[in-house]
Amino acid sequence: MQNNYHNTLIEQKTNLKNMVAKSPFGNFFGISQKTFDLVWSNLNAKDGNSAIYVSMEIGADLDVFNPVKNYLLQNEITDSSDPELNSFIYKTLHGPPKIPNYGGGLGILAGDTLKSFSACKIPVAAISLLYRKGYFSQLVDSKVGQISWSMEWSPEKTPCLYLLKNPDQPNKPLTVEIPFFDGKKNKTVQAYAQIWMKLEVNEKLDFFVPEFLLDFSLPESPEWVRNASNHLYDSSSEQMKALQRRMLGAGVMPLMDILGLTAATIHLNEQHGVVSVLNLISDHLLHKFGVSYQEKVKDSDILEAAEKVSQRVVYTIHTPVKAGHDRFDKSLYAGLSHTVCKKILGLLAGDKDNPTLYNFTEFAMQVNRAVNSVSRLHRDVTKKQFPQYADKITAITNGVHHLTWISEAKAEVFDSFPELKGWRQDPSVFTKAESFLKNKKFRTYLEQAWRHDTELLIQYVNDMLVLHRHQIEETWIDPPNFLSHLHEEDIPLSPSVFTIGFARRFSTYKRADLIFEDVKTLTSIITDLDYPVNFLFAGKAHPADEPGKSLIKIILDIQEEVYELSKGLAKLVFIPNYDMSIAKLMVSGVHAWLNSPKRPLEASGTSGMKAAMNGIPNISILDGWWMEGYHEGKTGWKFGIDTPVDTAPLSEDPAALLYEQDSASFYKIFPQVLKSFYEPKLKSNYIDKCINNIFLNIPIFNTHRMIAEYCRNYGLTLQSPVEKKIRQFQKLYKSEN
Ligand SMILES: *Cc1c(COP(=O)(O)O)cnc(C)c1O
Repeated sequence: MQNNYHNTLIEQKTNLKNMVAKSPFGNFFGISQKTFDLVWSNLNAKDGNSAIYVSMEIGADLDVFNPVKNYLLQNEITDSSDPELNSFIYKTLHGPPKIPNYGGGLGILAGDTLKSFSACKIPVAAISLLYRKGYFSQLVDSKVGQISWSMEWSPEKTPCLYLLKNPDQPNKPLTVEIPFFDGKKNKTVQAYAQIWMKLEVNEKLDFFVPEFLLDFSLPESPEWVRNASNHLYDSSSEQMKALQRRMLGAGVMPLMDILGLTAATIHLNEQHGVVSVLNLISDHLLHKFGVSYQEKVKDSDILEAAEKVSQRVVYTIHTPVKAGHDRFDKSLYAGLSHTVCKKILGLLAGDKDNPTLYNFTEFAMQVNRAVNSVSRLHRDVTKKQFPQYADKITAITNGVHHLTWISEAKAEVFDSFPELKGWRQDPSVFTKAESFLKNKKFRTYLEQAWRHDTELLIQYVNDMLVLHRHQIEETWIDPPNFLSHLHEEDIPLSPSVFTIGFARRFSTYKRADLIFEDVKTLTSIITDLDYPVNFLFAGKAHPADEPGKSLIKIILDIQEEVYELSKGLAKLVFIPNYDMSIAKLMVSGVHAWLNSPKRPLEASGTSGMKAAMNGIPNISILDGWWMEGYHEGKTGWKFGIDTPVDTAPLSEDPAALLYEQDSASFYKIFPQVLKSFYEPKLKSNYIDKCINNIFLNIPIFNTHRMIAEYCRNYGLTLQSPVEKKIRQFQKLYKSEN
């Protein structure tokens, strides 16, 4: 006994020592020296056998996935006698878990993608920006609607996030010099960024993907650059928007240089970082024509350089919505770029409709070796939008990182069935879950876990409603929810009540208010059947998106009517400040997940995949991923007009939003949905739907399968066990079919 105990202590100590990697850039916690050296040497290898993933936002909050913390908790490690280790442990266990560098689906996708690269040991590094004030915090007042609140956060205190040190002056941060053309002064000025590295460590702590976040908030940087480093998607002016895109794109080459990153492939996650391609082209010209290239180059030289550079670029387009495609006035850009850049843009970034604009989607479309959309339907739409590139546009359907989004309770269920052995490393294992349709034990366990998740969610909502009620006295915020004003005993929601969730960015095309188009019809369905329903809504609108904000207000304003007309059977609640942890609570705790975009504007959508991972059926317009995840009623419901994409308008014009038709279609299926949940003889069919999601949708709509498809575009040479696994995912599903 004594001996054993002693051995464990020693083992823990050695394990702990094995959790620190030292490097000239600093010491990092959570991985061994061997792992660090492996990753670093991959990224620095002469052969360039790695990829750089460039994204304006990365969503990877630590409260939904943090293997390093899990390891400490599992091993009951709470401190160490070594002061350095002790402080690492303290930070990991107690540091703030949010990294507010995301605004919505694009960022979450980036985070999930990088986690899967890490899990599958693919040599990738990411580049993004660090926003000192993140996106924004959302307060909601029933009379005002959304109030955006600036938030300060502390990267210094955040676990897994490190400020890189200067190897030559170890008590100073490493800074990278990034030139910006200042049109006002007609010369190039230097901006400076320090570099934060988030380690996206995998479940086994034996690989990581570094995310390099450029932080321009240094006093040495010009004030206009510093100001642009505060908020993600600051849209206070066009100038600001353009500058933020430049900060990302122009940072790519200098950052790669200073860290010795050799990746032959640059992956643009959306065109935001396309200025990096501009730099690659001018760099190519510089090498070919020498320092005075600016005067020497002809159009044909530029096109030739672009052709060469395109061999390095992979591009993912994420939306058919026009606002998602950066276009900037040429006159504005004249103040941001020197002559050759203007020439390059003039040749490669023309806007078809408006000769006074540069169109960055057009630019990214032209200069790449592979371009993909994010679902099959979106591919067809993108081809229609960009017919001149139709031949090269392919589909790689999005996924989500299963270990991030499957709730703890469901994970425990999956762990306890040998049929699913290895599911954490390999989500394709779930193809075997079909047999659970007939497995009583699994069905019972799943139901229990689900009940547990629903209770967690409903508890959160009930606590929140009461909290808001009490806060009236302390703050000037009027509680967002009508329910907070009711008698104390009328407030609480019940976890036995059918609960529908809807959470996403509030923007026009997502039509958050669609099912409330005709409240009388909606509530009469509920009162006729006498079945209670909870509707839980959440989501932020971009602070400058007035129509988006008014959608939130509509949800708040309609609550009382929904409650009264349904005689208290229907409770509609808005949960403020949507983030990853609220998302996880919702997608695992509800009974059905609602998605009501205007087809075909939801290129993929990912929250529905998160629900499917938890076995939860979707009720969705046949748009984005649901075209692939809907299996004739087996995994959920479809509704809405499914006009062929070649005739469907892409406009967000109110008249083209089809509210009347699509809401009517929802009211048609809604009684079936309610009955299938409440009627005892149909209940087993409901559990069937959940299991169908588990075996039909988890194996496909995960980021492991998705990155396997990306690997094909990256053309990486992989080690044989990695290669084998990637091949296996590739075989499982071809988005392109
Ligand atoms: C998944 C997620 C999104 C994206 O959801 P969509 O269905 O693609 O709109 C946005 N925000 C958060 C916090 C998420 O977790």
